[in-house]
Amino acid sequence: MTESEKKIIDGIDVSGTWSEFLPPKRIDFDANNRELAKFVLEKEPTFNLCIACGTCSATCAAGNLTDFNIRKLNVLLRRGEIEGIKEEIEKCMFCGKCQMACPRGVKTRNVIFNVKKAIEKL
Ligand code: SF4
Ligand code: SF4
Repeated sequence: MTESEKKIIDGIDVSGTWSEFLPPKRIDFDANNRELAKFVLEKEPTFNLCIACGTCSATCAAGNLTDFNIRKLNVLLRRGEIEGIKEEIEKCMFCGKCQMACPRGVKTRNVIFNVKKAIEKL
Protein backbone atom coordinates (compact mmCIF):
# COMPACT_ATOMS: atom_id res chain seq x y z
CA MET A 1 0.00 0.00 0.00
CA THR A 2 1.39 3.36 -1.03
CA GLU A 3 1.39 6.39 1.24
CA SER A 4 -1.34 8.04 -0.90
CA GLU A 5 -3.62 4.97 -0.53
CA LYS A 6 -3.45 5.05 3.25
CA LYS A 7 -6.53 6.22 5.12
CA ILE A 8 -5.67 8.46 8.04
CA ILE A 9 -8.30 9.65 10.54
CA ASP A 10 -7.24 11.98 13.35
CA GLY A 11 -3.65 10.99 12.75
CA ILE A 12 -4.41 7.27 13.09
CA ASP A 13 -3.77 4.87 10.21
CA VAL A 14 -7.06 3.05 9.64
CA SER A 15 -6.27 1.57 6.25
CA GLY A 16 -6.99 -2.10 5.68
CA THR A 17 -9.91 -4.36 6.47
CA TRP A 18 -11.50 -5.47 9.72
CA SER A 19 -10.07 -8.95 9.30
CA GLU A 20 -6.60 -7.44 9.50
CA PHE A 21 -7.43 -5.76 12.81
CA LEU A 22 -9.45 -8.65 14.21
CA PRO A 23 -8.24 -11.97 12.86
CA PRO A 24 -11.06 -14.56 12.95
CA LYS A 25 -10.97 -17.00 15.86
CA ARG A 26 -11.82 -20.56 14.98
CA ILE A 27 -12.99 -22.95 17.68
CA ASP A 28 -12.34 -26.59 16.97
CA PHE A 29 -14.83 -28.28 19.28
CA ASP A 30 -13.73 -31.74 18.17
CA ALA A 31 -10.12 -31.08 19.10
CA ASN A 32 -11.02 -29.57 22.48
CA ASN A 33 -11.54 -31.50 25.71
CA ARG A 34 -15.29 -31.57 26.30
CA GLU A 35 -15.17 -34.28 28.96
CA LEU A 36 -15.31 -31.80 31.82
CA ALA A 37 -18.34 -30.03 30.34
CA LYS A 38 -20.08 -33.37 29.78
CA PHE A 39 -19.46 -34.37 33.39
CA VAL A 40 -20.81 -31.06 34.71
CA LEU A 41 -23.86 -31.22 32.42
CA GLU A 42 -24.67 -34.70 33.66
CA LYS A 43 -24.49 -33.61 37.30
CA GLU A 44 -26.04 -30.17 36.82
CA PRO A 45 -28.32 -29.96 33.74
CA THR A 46 -29.09 -26.26 34.31
CA PHE A 47 -25.55 -25.59 33.04
CA ASN A 48 -27.07 -25.97 29.58
CA LEU A 49 -29.34 -22.95 30.14
CA CYS A 50 -26.47 -20.46 30.31
CA ILE A 51 -26.70 -17.72 27.67
CA ALA A 52 -23.41 -16.11 28.67
CA CYS A 53 -25.18 -12.88 29.67
CA GLY A 54 -22.57 -12.03 32.31
CA THR A 55 -24.95 -11.20 35.18
CA CYS A 56 -23.08 -13.70 37.34
CA SER A 57 -19.76 -11.95 36.66
CA ALA A 58 -21.25 -8.56 37.52
CA THR A 59 -22.26 -9.77 40.98
CA CYS A 60 -19.35 -12.11 41.64
CA ALA A 61 -17.62 -11.51 44.95
CA ALA A 62 -14.35 -13.02 43.73
CA GLY A 63 -14.57 -11.06 40.49
CA ASN A 64 -14.60 -7.82 42.49
CA LEU A 65 -11.32 -8.71 44.17
CA THR A 66 -9.48 -10.67 41.48
CA ASP A 67 -9.51 -11.14 37.70
CA PHE A 68 -11.83 -14.13 38.12
CA ASN A 69 -14.62 -14.20 35.53
CA ILE A 70 -17.28 -16.85 36.06
CA ARG A 71 -19.02 -16.10 32.76
CA LYS A 72 -15.79 -16.57 30.85
CA LEU A 73 -15.12 -19.75 32.76
CA ASN A 74 -18.55 -21.12 31.79
CA VAL A 75 -17.98 -20.30 28.13
CA LEU A 76 -14.47 -21.79 28.02
CA LEU A 77 -15.71 -24.88 29.82
CA ARG A 78 -18.50 -25.38 27.30
CA ARG A 79 -16.04 -24.95 24.44
CA GLY A 80 -13.71 -27.48 26.01
CA GLU A 81 -10.91 -24.96 26.45
CA ILE A 82 -9.98 -26.08 29.93
CA GLU A 83 -6.33 -25.11 30.17
CA GLY A 84 -5.69 -23.23 33.42
CA ILE A 85 -9.21 -23.90 34.71
CA LYS A 86 -7.93 -25.53 37.91
CA GLU A 87 -6.07 -22.40 39.02
CA GLU A 88 -8.95 -20.19 37.91
CA ILE A 89 -11.70 -22.04 39.81
CA GLU A 90 -9.70 -21.79 43.04
CA LYS A 91 -10.47 -18.05 43.08
CA CYS A 92 -14.20 -18.74 43.62
CA MET A 93 -15.31 -18.18 47.23
CA PHE A 94 -18.38 -20.35 46.82
CA CYS A 95 -20.63 -17.60 48.16
CA GLY A 96 -23.50 -18.26 45.75
CA LYS A 97 -24.23 -14.63 44.79
CA CYS A 98 -23.94 -15.53 41.11
CA GLN A 99 -26.64 -18.17 41.48
CA MET A 100 -29.07 -15.72 43.05
CA ALA A 101 -28.52 -13.25 40.20
CA CYS A 102 -28.66 -15.65 37.25
CA PRO A 103 -31.75 -14.88 35.11
CA ARG A 104 -31.69 -18.38 33.62
CA GLY A 105 -31.71 -20.29 36.87
CA VAL A 106 -28.30 -21.86 36.32
CA LYS A 107 -27.22 -23.45 39.57
CA THR A 108 -23.76 -21.95 39.27
CA ARG A 109 -22.59 -23.09 42.70
CA ASN A 110 -23.26 -26.68 41.78
CA VAL A 111 -21.57 -26.12 38.43
CA ILE A 112 -18.45 -24.87 40.21
CA PHE A 113 -18.65 -27.67 42.77
CA ASN A 114 -18.78 -30.28 40.00
CA VAL A 115 -15.97 -28.66 38.03
CA LYS A 116 -13.82 -28.93 41.16
CA LYS A 117 -14.90 -32.53 41.65
CA ALA A 118 -14.11 -33.44 38.04
CA ILE A 119 -10.74 -31.68 38.09
CA GLU A 120 -9.65 -33.87 41.02
CA LYS A 121 -10.22 -36.90 38.79
CA LEU A 122 -8.36 -35.49 35.77
S1 SF4 B 1 -25.89 -15.17 34.86
FE1 SF4 B 1 -26.52 -17.27 34.34
S2 SF4 B 1 -27.04 -17.20 32.16
FE2 SF4 B 1 -25.86 -15.37 32.62
S3 SF4 B 1 -23.71 -15.93 32.15
FE3 SF4 B 1 -24.04 -16.31 34.32
S4 SF4 B 1 -24.64 -18.48 34.46
FE4 SF4 B 1 -24.90 -17.85 32.31
S1 SF4 C 1 -19.94 -18.48 44.12
FE1 SF4 C 1 -17.95 -18.02 43.19
S2 SF4 C 1 -18.46 -17.41 41.10
FE2 SF4 C 1 -20.34 -17.25 42.30
S3 SF4 C 1 -20.42 -15.12 43.05
FE3 SF4 C 1 -19.44 -16.33 44.63
S4 SF4 C 1 -17.23 -16.14 44.21
FE4 SF4 C 1 -18.33 -15.54 42.34
